[in-house]
This record gives sequence, C-alpha cells and structure tokens, in this order.
Amino acid sequence: MSLHLYDTATRDVRAFVPLNPGEVGIYLCGATVQAPPHIGHLRPVIAFDVLRRWLERSGLRVTLIRNVTDIEDKILAKAAAAGVEWWAHAATHERMFTRAYDALGVIPPTYEPRATGHVPDMAELMQRLVDRGHAYATGPGDVWFDVRSWPAYGELTRQRLEDLNPEPTGDDVAASAKRDPHDFALWKAPKPGEPETASWETAFGRGRPGWHLECSAMARRYLGDAFDIHGGGLDLRFPHHENEQAQSRAAGYGFAQRWMHCAWVTQQGVKMSKSLGNGLLVSELLAQAPAPVIRYALAAVQYRSMLEWSPDTLDEARTTWERLSGFVDRATERVGGVPADEVAKAELPAGFIEAMDDDLNVPAALAVVHEHLRAGNSALASRDDAAAREELVALRGMLDVLGLDPHDPQWASGADDSAARAALESLVAAELDARVAARAAKDWATSDAIRDRLAAAGVVVQDSADGARWTLTD
Ligand SMILES: [Zn+2]
Repeated sequence: MSLHLYDTATRDVRAFVPLNPGEVGIYLCGATVQAPPHIGHLRPVIAFDVLRRWLERSGLRVTLIRNVTDIEDKILAKAAAAGVEWWAHAATHERMFTRAYDALGVIPPTYEPRATGHVPDMAELMQRLVDRGHAYATGPGDVWFDVRSWPAYGELTRQRLEDLNPEPTGDDVAASAKRDPHDFALWKAPKPGEPETASWETAFGRGRPGWHLECSAMARRYLGDAFDIHGGGLDLRFPHHENEQAQSRAAGYGFAQRWMHCAWVTQQGVKMSKSLGNGLLVSELLAQAPAPVIRYALAAVQYRSMLEWSPDTLDEARTTWERLSGFVDRATERVGGVPADEVAKAELPAGFIEAMDDDLNVPAALAVVHEHLRAGNSALASRDDAAAREELVALRGMLDVLGLDPHDPQWASGADDSAARAALESLVAAELDARVAARAAKDWATSDAIRDRLAAAGVVVQDSADGARWTLTD
C-alpha cells in the first residue's frame, strides 16, 4: 500500500499522488499572532510536522509554507489597549510562537511569509477577481467577494448559500453596501482611530487585508497556481478555507488539490480555548513537563481524532516517554552510539510503514514502536547485544519519523548544551568511581556521603547489575 490520506473536500481516504513527481507543496495556515500560544495552537503544527517528516522519509521533497497573520482586528485592538504599536505587538507574539515550535521540535517551514509583506500580491489577486466579475468595491478601501457570482461557493464544506448564516463583519456601514450578506471582505477601509501604519494604498483605495485573501495570495506566490495539500485546524474549514478556495478558483487557479484538517484539543469534550482551564499556555506546559513529553502527548493521537486533554494526559505521556528514552539510553550505553545518518536511513518495520501510510495512523504506528521496545528490553536482559542494537536502530528510526527520537540533538539544545553535559558527565563519573572504591573498601560512610553530595546537586544514582547509573532530577 502507498500513502493514503483523507481529503476533507471529497471526504474519503485515497492514494496521495503529487502534482509533480517527487515533490510536495503544502500550505498550512499559521498563527494570528495576537496572544501567546496555547496547546490548541500546537496540535495542528505538530500533526503537519509529522506529515512532513513522513513524506520526506518516503523520499519526497517537501516545500512547506506556513504563514503568519500579523495584521488583523484583534491585533489592532489588543495593541491599542496595551498602548503599543500593532506591529510591535504582532512581532512579540510571533517570537513566542517561534520559540514554542522550536521547543517542541517542529522543523521550521521552508518559508514563513507574513501577511504584511504580501500586500502587492493581494492587490493583484483582488484586481483579477474584479476584472473577472467575482469581486466589487463599495467605496474607497472596501472590496468584497461576490459569492453569487461563483456557483461553486460552499463546495468545500458542502453547504448551500441558503443554509448559511452570514459572516459577521463588525462594520455595519460598509457591510450594508454588500450585494449579498454572505459576501466577504477582501479589503477593508481603515476605521476611525486606526493607526496610519495599518493601511496600504491600492487601486481600490487605502485599506488593509481581509484575512482570507492573504492565504490565497501567499499560497500562489510560493507554491504556484495549483499545489498538493492545504492544511489547518478543523475550525478553519469554514469560512476561512471555503473563502480561500472560492477566491483562488474564481481567479482561475487550481489551488489546493487536497484538504487536510487536524481535530481539536478538547477538555471534557469542549474545544480548548483561552477561556477553558489554566496552565495550558505553551510556556506553562514547558514548566510542567519536558518538551518531548508534551510533543508525545500531542502526536500520539491520530490527527483527525479529537484529543481530550485531562490532568492525566501529561503523566501518561511522561511514563511512556521515560520507557522509550530509558531503553534508548541503556541500549546506547551497552552497544554504543548510533550515527544520526544510520537512524535516518534505518529500515522501518513493515507494520510501522503500513500504519503511517494509512492516513498517518500514529496510534497503530506506536503499537509497532512498543513491540520493538519490548523486544529491545528482552535483548538487553538476555545480553544479546546484536539484537539490542538492531532494536535500538529500528526504534530510533521510527521515533524520528514522529519527531520523538530521544537522542535527536533537538532535545539537547538550550540549557543542556553539549560542553556543559560533557563536563557534568566527567565530574559525576569521577564521583561514582570514588564511590565504587569506597564500597570495595567497605567504607560505607564515604560511599553514602558521595551519594548524598550528588543528590544535593540534583543527580540521582541508581544501582543495577551493570553498575551505577545516574539521571538528573526534573
Ligand atoms: Zn489561511
């Protein structure tokens, strides 16, 4: 079986065949940088990171574009309330998102365009839509998409215009001039009191972008008239993605050939949002658990299933992560380090490949990971080093596809820099050698003193048949 992926537009799982052999273009709607990132923001980004890693592991060259929405009503309102420039507010939050993605081991997109950097592309697209009779201006700066001019409107989400509630525009004066209440804004005239820097001159007057227009314009600039996959969170299907598709296709472009949507993080069945629960900002989560534990918790559920977040979610992920990373540590101590290149090219178990090819069925793929974890632990217990090494390579190869290889240098960045780690290892080894010598001499007082000294420094010593092992307390 080859890679099969669900398509939200056709509502079926079918074989993925790229437009250009060997290459894949993906557009992923990125963050509106108006508030700090929370766990709901991370999930789709990690899901599409796993998709990207799997496509690359399957031999495809991936171009992933993930935009930054850096101008929008909420950004303007929050910046005004905080007494800072809107672009400073956006930049501050954009950096928070970048740090969160980096911390969670998300491979940076091929390019990360900002809406404000693409006004000419948007103006060109607007002009094309007006010329083709699919958009109209109602005054300086106000341009609308004419939904009645595009009979396919609603096809992505299979809705009829008659059944839809009009999108609230929040601007009654401008909206009252619309031809149809469902028409959506391509370009918005500045409102009284908005800063001069938040609008741009175009042939249709001074204004700023409607949210939907930017994605159509940026997707075309970087991925061409038609591209393979458009992704985002489930809540973006309507109106955002419906409107993106209507604009781009009405302009004569093929646009996305397939739509993929990642389900929500829920708490007690309700979509995660800022109003629910505490401690779910990425910065707060990183204080509660190591980054790979958070990534494991978010990646372990199939992307189309809702992920119910409970107080136990992180604890369960931590237990599993410690089993996986514990084996990788012990096996590496026994058989030596495996070069990164060997991990990247490791032959993957057939069951794992089959699961990933089946619409990224990560839970089924993890079941295969756990089979190999058990086999690896048995090999260590029976001192079969050849088998232990084989399982170590297979396990790290599979976990690497999920962005969860415990020995990937991404988890060693930041505070845990390698020079400091090497120095610590040599100091702890010297202490442990002294402890072995004290025990051999039955000098229990010295042996206990060494152990206490290490514990006070945050180093936990565990004695085993193979000798003493140590870890740092969290
Ligand atoms: Zn978008």
